[in-house]
Formats: sequence, structure tokens, C-alpha cells
Amino acid sequence: MTSAEGVVLTEGQHQYYRIVVVGGGNGGLSVAGRLRRQGVKDIAVVEPRTTHLYKPLFSHVAGGTAPGSMTVRPQGSVMPKGVKWVRDAVTSIEPESRTLMLDGGGRLTYEHVIVAAGIQHDWDAVPGLADAVRAPSGGSHYEIDLAVKTSALLRDLRSGTVIFSQPPGPASCAGAAQKPMYLACDFWQKTGVLSDIHVIMLVPDATIFGIPEIDRELNRKIAAYGIDLRTRAEITAVDAEARTVTVRQGQPQLPEELSYDVLNVEPPQSAPDWLSNLAAPGEDGGFVDVDPQTLRHRRHPNVWALGDAAATANSKSGGALRKQTLALARNLQAVLEGKAPTELYDGYSVCPFTVSRGTVVFAEFDDQYRLKPTIPFWKGLARERRLTWIFDRHILPWVYWHMILKGRA
Ligand SMILES: Cc1cc2nc3c(=O)[nH]c(=O)nc-3n(C[C@H](O)[C@H](O)[C@H](O)COP(=O)(O)OP(=O)(O)OC[C@H]3O[C@@H](n4cnc5c(N)ncnc54)[C@H](O)[C@@H]3O)c2cc1C
Repeated sequence: MTSAEGVVLTEGQHQYYRIVVVGGGNGGLSVAGRLRRQGVKDIAVVEPRTTHLYKPLFSHVAGGTAPGSMTVRPQGSVMPKGVKWVRDAVTSIEPESRTLMLDGGGRLTYEHVIVAAGIQHDWDAVPGLADAVRAPSGGSHYEIDLAVKTSALLRDLRSGTVIFSQPPGPASCAGAAQKPMYLACDFWQKTGVLSDIHVIMLVPDATIFGIPEIDRELNRKIAAYGIDLRTRAEITAVDAEARTVTVRQGQPQLPEELSYDVLNVEPPQSAPDWLSNLAAPGEDGGFVDVDPQTLRHRRHPNVWALGDAAATANSKSGGALRKQTLALARNLQAVLEGKAPTELYDGYSVCPFTVSRGTVVFAEFDDQYRLKPTIPFWKGLARERRLTWIFDRHILPWVYWHMILKGRA
């Protein structure tokens, strides 16, 4: 088996690596690449998927501004140089014995483990939801095949009702629920059918996003497109055959049934069930209990976590990961050299709202939902701009494949 295909352990087989990274997604590969570039050796990434996905582009795929093929590359082609790929899924992490159990029956031991296993999609949390997104009128830009389907549904619609929804609770780039909606509205406006389409957006919170400056920008676009925004709203059931959703909305939350011609949802999400032994004590269903600044586990010093799987207070995003990987890699290297971890992650996150097919509202903020612009004091990037569209749609994908995944950005 070549390294491009990954190493597969057979039943009962055991291997040791100094550093094991669980998950070869955005966070796992970036942190492995960074550690390698810092000179750390003997690193393995455990990842069952044979393809790697660039998820921020899924919103563009669903909204019709990027092809699905741009989001996918073979996993073997994106593994950082000098890092081993173990092609399997981890079924449990036993921190006391520093052991990982693999789905294929093998076993890994380590000196340090980094958990970067992402977030799980709970399609069954809402009755009827799993069927609805697979039915002819449903889709979701949180799975690439369903994003491609949504793209065709939105493109071909000339009249009727479209429902977009964001679930309550934790989510990967929660605000992404809105992105294909604005892209589609711009398309419908330009093709002259927007006035025949009733666009409904369901969000769980009291406002569209939660930061006044960003809410102002988004509300301006919502008014311009004539979007029917429902706040404090949550889908509680879907009937795919009748094409209806039951929604609880407003304050007090009252039930209402809405009919749709197209439904695009962000799924309910939660911490991976199999990681529950690494959550905070008594916190059932919690994310990996790391110190949110050093990213080291609070009870198990040889366990680290970052990205969507970590119990940090920031909004979960790839932008947050760029800063997390830097802090974690430096802290872990310090510990390997017998020093204390001193590099602190500052809670930065980002959500680029694609508010038209050529402009973005680039929301950068901290874990208290205060604006945190990359260019200090210049809050102008958080206004609708062409520049940030070019960055999000054209520059960032290149940076992701060539720099972020290699631990260079
Ligand atoms: C539709 C969408 C749009 C987004 N838009 C943006 C955006 O515009 N900007 C932005 O900054 N962020 C965006 N994000 C968020 C960003 O993609 C995530 O925050 C980021 O991918 C998280 O990285 P991660 O490494 O934690 O998880 P992932 O990238 O999800 O990687 C987790 C990996 O772990 C693997 N894994 C899972 N279970 C196991 C197991 N048991 N054993 C081994 N491996 C396992 C998975 O196969 C996966 O490869 C978006 C996300 C989505 C879904």
C-alpha cells in the first residue's frame, strides 16, 4: 500500500506514534503540518475518508457560484509531507493508557493525541428531516451531494416558497445557513423572478446574527431582497411528502405549519457521541474539555483538541482554526521540550456572509460576539464589499489547499 492510500491496520495490529491526530479535516491537517514544519517527527493522522472536503465552498456550491468539484481532493494528495496517514476511524480514546481503538480492530498508542474530529450532524434530531433532505424538494449545503442538489433546485425555481433554516445549538459556521439564500435571491432578482418567490429564513436567535453592526448590514440585504425573516424560530418536524415544516417561533414560541416548494436546512449538530469520555465531568454530550486558550485538556495533559470538536467558547469556523492551530502547535512543542504552554488562542472567529453574487459581509468577531477585525481598528471589512468576495471566493480556496493544509497559514 502506498502512502497516498494510507496505512490500514489489521485486526489486533498495534502501532505507536509520538503524536496522533484524530481527524484529517481542516484542523487535523493544519496542525499536523505546523508541527512537522516546527521539526516535530513521528506524527500520524487517523482519517477514514479517502476524500478531503473544503467546506466553506459548500455555500457557494448550493448558491450556484462554485462547482461541487472544486471542494473535493483525494485525501492522500493533501496529507502534509512527512506525516503518516492511518486510514481508519477511531472508535474510542483511552487517555489513561494513551490508547486509541480503531474501527478495523487495530490499536494505536501515543505520547500526545490531538482531537480534531469535527462535529456530528444529527439528522434524526428532528422527525422527518433526514427523509426531507433526500426527497426531491429538499437539500442541505452541509453535505456536498445535497449542496449540489440544492443548487439545481434553487436555479430552476421560478415561483413558490423556499425555506432556509438554521438550527438552535452548536454548529459549524452557524451563520452559513444564510449564505446560499442571499446568492439565490441575487440570482432570482437578476432573472426577474424574485417577486414571485416567498423566501423564508428561520433563525433560532432574537436577531439575524447577534452583533449590531453585522445585523444592520444583513437586515439591509434582507429588506432589499424582501426576505421573510422569522427569529426565535426552530423546525420541530418535517413532512417530506406533504412538503410542510412545523415551526416553533416567536416569544412565546407558538407552533405554525409552513408549506414549501424548496427546503434547504443546516442540520442540528452536536459533539461526536464517541468522544463523551473527554467532555467536562457531568456534561453529557459536551465537546472535548480543553482550556479554551492553550487547547490542552483540563484533566488529561496528553490530550489536546481544536476546531469543531473542542469545547472552546468561540464560534466554530475554519478562520478560528488558523489561530488555534498556531497556539496548539507551539504549546505542544513547548511541552515536548519540557516547558510550559504559553501561547494563547484569543477566541477569534469569522463568518463571511455572501450577501450577493459579488459581495461579502466579512464578520470577524471574538468569543464575546464583539467585532475583532484582522486589520486593527478597520471595521470597514464588516460592511458589504467586493474585496472580501474576491478573498472568500477566489483567494481563500487557493490559500486553503496550498498553505493552510500544509500548516503554512
Ligand atoms: C456549509 C459550511 C460552510 C462553512 N463556511 C465557512 C466559512 O465560510 N468560513 C469558515 O471559516 N468556516 C466555515 N465553515 C466551518 C469550517 O469548515 C469548520 O469549522 C472546519 O472544517 C472545522 O475543522 P475540523 O478539523 O474541526 O473539522 P472537519 O474539517 O469537519 O474535519 C473533521 C475530520 O475528522 C474526521 N473524523 C470524524 N470522525 C472521526 C473518527 N471517529 N476517527 C477519525 N477521523 C474522524 C472526519 O472524517 C473529518 O475529515 C463552514 C462549514 C460548513 C459545513
